[in-house]
Amino acid sequence: MRYANLSGRLVLVSTDGTEAVDVEKASGGLFGPDPQAVYESFPEFRKWADTADLTGGEPFRPEQLETPVPAPRQVFAIGLNYHGHAAEAGLPVPDEPILFTKWMSSLTGPVTTVQLPEGGKVDWEIELVAVIGKLAYQVPESEAWSHIAGLSTGQDISERDLQRRGPVPQFGLGKSLPGFSPVGPWVVTPDEFADPDDLQLGCSVNGETVQQGRTGDLIFSVPSLVAKLSANLPLLPGDLVFTGTPAGVGVVRTPPRFLRPGDELVSYVTGIGELRQQFTA
Ligand code: ZN
Repeated sequence: MRYANLSGRLVLVSTDGTEAVDVEKASGGLFGPDPQAVYESFPEFRKWADTADLTGGEPFRPEQLETPVPAPRQVFAIGLNYHGHAAEAGLPVPDEPILFTKWMSSLTGPVTTVQLPEGGKVDWEIELVAVIGKLAYQVPESEAWSHIAGLSTGQDISERDLQRRGPVPQFGLGKSLPGFSPVGPWVVTPDEFADPDDLQLGCSVNGETVQQGRTGDLIFSVPSLVAKLSANLPLLPGDLVFTGTPAGVGVVRTPPRFLRPGDELVSYVTGIGELRQQFTA
């Protein structure tokens, strides 16, 4: 099953990603239109959606989609979670997940225009995003997938000066400017993947591939992250986890490369879908 936020309303999306069924209408009001409120009863929603009559979908354009999970109570993000990225950053492989947050005001839909801050060193980070579907507290790795509502494509767009300003690095601000957290185009439930632990992901700038990796190379996999985070605190239904980026970011290149006005960034996770960001001054 894949579900999305079409003009502020929760919809189920056809497998080919071209048609949407309005959840409130199709369920006769059993589930409301709010894409965030569905996490109050996500297991029931899953059960209904699996047997619902989904004929009569209506066509839509990707630009009409908004961020699929618009108001998560917690947004977790993981640093240095691919061997290749830790190596290019010249940093050791972490023993425990490196954790920071992206604030929810930076979340957007899949197709957007992003304004670059003046003089900013803005970089790309393609990431798999996991959506929590069921309260997870002290959950063992073996039971973690049953707490995941689904997976989405995300970008952890990062302003590198803000991220490193001050005596100690502080990631939240530089990764939470307006439009810096596009997610989408929809959320795909884990059962849709042959192996949800090994998905190809990548991004390109103006058609040139800059990142390409597989989530099978994650240092801490999605189930491992659920286990390790939930050992410390509860993960709430409708929370997001940005799982980290593979090698190929701009800041470590020689010379460093950052996004410029007019650039187009296209990001994908195979089996989910694409984000498309246009950058302006
Ligand atoms: Zn990141």
